[in-house]
Amino acid sequence: MADSSDILAGLDPEQASAVTAPAGPLCILAGAGTGKTRAITHRIAHRVRSGAVRARHVLAVTFTARAAAEMRARLGQLGADGVQARTFHSAALRQVRYFAPRLFNGREMPELLDSKARLVGLAATRAGLKTDRAAARDLASEIEWAKASLVEPDDYAVTAAKALREPPFDAAKVGQVYAHYERIKRAQGVIDFEDMIRAAIWALEEHEDVAAQIRSQYRHFVVDEYQDVNPMQQRLLDAWLGDRDDVTVVGDASQTIYSFTGASAAYLVDFKRRHPDARVVRLVRDYRSTPQVVGLANAVISRARGDLAKLRLELVGQRKPGPEPTVRVFADEPEEAAAVAARCADLIAAGTPPREIAVLFRVNAQSEVYQEALAEAGVPYVVHDAERFFDRAEIRQAMVALRAATRTAPGRETALVDVVVHALEGVGWRPDAAPAGGAMRERWEAVAALVALAEGMPGHSLEEFTEELSRRAALQHVPTVDGVTLSSLHSAKGLEWDAVFLVGLAEGTLPVIHARTPDAVEEERRLLYVGVTRARHTLWLSYAAARSPGGRVRRPCRFLPALDPSRPAAPAPKGAVAGRVKRVMAVSCRVCGTGLVNGVDRKLGRCSTCPSDLDEELLGRLVDWRARLAGVQKVPPFVIFTDVTLAAIAERRPARREELAVIAGIGPRKLGLYGDDVLALVGGATVEDLAEVDG
Ligand code: ATP
Ligand code: MG
Repeated sequence: MADSSDILAGLDPEQASAVTAPAGPLCILAGAGTGKTRAITHRIAHRVRSGAVRARHVLAVTFTARAAAEMRARLGQLGADGVQARTFHSAALRQVRYFAPRLFNGREMPELLDSKARLVGLAATRAGLKTDRAAARDLASEIEWAKASLVEPDDYAVTAAKALREPPFDAAKVGQVYAHYERIKRAQGVIDFEDMIRAAIWALEEHEDVAAQIRSQYRHFVVDEYQDVNPMQQRLLDAWLGDRDDVTVVGDASQTIYSFTGASAAYLVDFKRRHPDARVVRLVRDYRSTPQVVGLANAVISRARGDLAKLRLELVGQRKPGPEPTVRVFADEPEEAAAVAARCADLIAAGTPPREIAVLFRVNAQSEVYQEALAEAGVPYVVHDAERFFDRAEIRQAMVALRAATRTAPGRETALVDVVVHALEGVGWRPDAAPAGGAMRERWEAVAALVALAEGMPGHSLEEFTEELSRRAALQHVPTVDGVTLSSLHSAKGLEWDAVFLVGLAEGTLPVIHARTPDAVEEERRLLYVGVTRARHTLWLSYAAARSPGGRVRRPCRFLPALDPSRPAAPAPKGAVAGRVKRVMAVSCRVCGTGLVNGVDRKLGRCSTCPSDLDEELLGRLVDWRARLAGVQKVPPFVIFTDVTLAAIAERRPARREELAVIAGIGPRKLGLYGDDVLALVGGATVEDLAEVDG
């Protein structure tokens, strides 16, 4: 835990002025990576640790579950546990649930709809519209926009026209669907996401006793990513505040990415007008990214147009130089995904922890091909929202098992981690049996995160460990799962990774096909800006010329300066051809001569069904060597070489580097790192011989 003076130590003068500003309205306006979130978490910690405020009186809100989890983690490290850091949604839900009996005549909170789709479909039918799933989804988005903008069904048509919405049907019809939807919902006694926030607002505005209780609980407010607040959330914030004004808001107009849902950067931009005595702090130094990444970010946003573009800030990179961003074009999506997965495996082999890598895409449908490719390459990944960690079935099961084990657990003389592993083995988890990929791997990784937590608590008893887990579950303080993050660009905001892969950067995907108005297109540009600015060091941008092999050819994303075909320096789709040539490079079975297409066969250099002349003894030594190295590097063995690659080596017994280099799965980097060792092993060296040389 940092000591109170450390809280001020790692800050530049502007950040420090924000951190130490007295109670009252404060607005931090700054670009990506300039330390806005750092400034507010330090401000909270500073005020808590200096005794100016109590942790439990602070409510910090942000927009995504991941960002809230990140904020809780940072606050925890600064010794400000106990501060509530939540999304607007989860903060409101908690309050509405708590006060439900008073709000709903002694009853519990009505059931919350997971998705609007079904009821919207019904409502559309009542309004005389024929809808498929896509149309129902578009209608649901319109209703969400209207509700977030505090627009009632009768006013929908007029307001939507003013806001230049492009509704999926005639606006008057959409207004009718909205009205039917509200009626059906009421009749069924359920509420939706927006109703729940409205209930919180109504509780504060109309129930004096509830308002008094909530306001005495929460006295200091902080809103991160304030550029994305919508009218409904702003009204909730106002209701929380009442006539008080201890509120800090932080944001960057260039990162406004939710206006299609009704969010408006105007609240950020006009904060000073609404709070004339507010302090305004501006930050420009980018501490997150290398000058190479910052340069690309500036280039992307410098071409922005429209109102928000006037507010952009040129970032000044503070970190030492790193690699130039990589820009790649592939023939199709599976090929793009395979290359990304291979690069992830290389980064991990070279020492980047998987949790420091992210693959970001525009639409969630893109996730699947990356899940497959990462699983194929044996790279662990995480898809789910961090917030749900403690709700995962395997985690709940593990916690039950751990609690049960406290009754019989040995004392402190046995290492905690061993006790934990033993208890988890009782529910079928094995430390050395990580499944190769997919959902099973994800479940394994989640439980492994609990074990890692136990590892970090030596000397504690199992009972203390389960208490710590319960405490974390209550605070939603999630242990880090060590996998590559797969996320949409939208939910990546506010976060950062050492290496970021921005994939699928083709017209139609980014900007997304339904971004038709100039404003919508600008929002897509800002989305790319958000993506680029997530990278600390390594940044990869790619797209596939066609979605599937042989499919229709697409153009590169227009926002990428280096890929823009209207600029002479464009290395545009030529790369696609190069990619294709590489892809079809023929490999044939060295036993029967058949052309090989399957990945495993190509790695082996023969059909898996053809007889193998594998040297079992050599394979044994290779496996031992890999295990020792994995131990030294603290990485899973597959990141060094997969089983298939080791088998291929043991079959072909390469005598020279050139022979080793042609084995699939051994690129130049692995050749450089492990080539000598492998050749020595093939030549008869033992693992001990190599250990002596290395030592
Ligand atoms: P975004 O707009 O993406 O939300 P941000 O402005 O909130 O970015 P932070 O996430 O707070 O930026 O900070 C970016 C990175 O820079 C973090 O890793 C943070 O720890 C680091 N950082 C911020 N300020 C400093 C500083 N004064 N010295 C060193 N590192 C810093
Ligand atoms: Mg931030």
